[in-house]
Amino acid sequence: MTEMVRTRDELAQARARLSGPVVLVPTMGALHEGHLALLRAARSLAGDGGSVAVSIFVNPLQFGPGEDLDRYPRTLDEDLVLCAKEGAALVFAPSAAEMYPKGRPAVTVDPGPMGAVLEGEFRPGFFGGVLTVVLKLFNLVRPSVAVFGEKDAQQFALVRRMVADLDLGIRIAPVPTVRDADGLATSSRNRYLSADERARALTLSRALRAGAAAAAAGPDAVLAAARAELDGEPGLAVDYLALVDPETFTGPVDSRPAVLAVAARVGATRLIDNVRIGGA
Ligand code: AMP
Repeated sequence: MTEMVRTRDELAQARARLSGPVVLVPTMGALHEGHLALLRAARSLAGDGGSVAVSIFVNPLQFGPGEDLDRYPRTLDEDLVLCAKEGAALVFAPSAAEMYPKGRPAVTVDPGPMGAVLEGEFRPGFFGGVLTVVLKLFNLVRPSVAVFGEKDAQQFALVRRMVADLDLGIRIAPVPTVRDADGLATSSRNRYLSADERARALTLSRALRAGAAAAAAGPDAVLAAARAELDGEPGLAVDYLALVDPETFTGPVDSRPAVLAVAARVGATRLIDNVRIGGA
């Protein structure tokens, strides 16, 4: 049975009843196949004795002015059905006032230099907001393991780095990016796309595949192949295309595995995607 709680007091009581190690899946809801892959990985990591907890919270702290905080899809009833189906024991779905009772927190997590590049450059304050809410969720839920998607590769690297730098003692487990059959990475924001925009959005994954296919020819060829695909679609406003180290999100990369990351706007919708180049 899945228990849904809204307040930190209810969470504390429900948390005390959970059996074994707890595996946390932090989300903003509007659950899709990507989230379901995280829930399944969490269920398997928890094993027979452990429990899966899911948080559903559209975190205002990570949205900038003019971004989509107000129109972000909220589908709590459907989300709860999916969490129950995937064997989650607990869903924590707090209000913004519950998470931030004193309003905007005065003390927040500083994501450091890695939080200022790529996504951080185009979304100032984003990673500070993400890491602050993730740390709060870790403190409230006290999981042994937390599961994050490789779809948000820079976020994944920053969460891991926060855990290491602040000695949080929580294992951060990755889940590979889930894609629709046509290659588009599943995302809650895909709901915004018209049919025409969706067709244009496919250019992102096509560019990443083209980049990956050029891996043997070196980093410049990877970037050129991906850039050529992006340039071929005028209906796309590219924020960045970069080949970076997966742990530091800085370049230039040497012979080690790298991440080819892209962000672009299609109409009013901003999409990100990435792929591993070289290595496992
Ligand atoms: P969100 O609800 O978008 O904040 O995402 C919650 C978690 O799901 C994050 O760890 C994301 O990286 C992960 N996630 C979102 N989309 C995907 C996807 N297509 N494949 C794998 N993980 C995903």
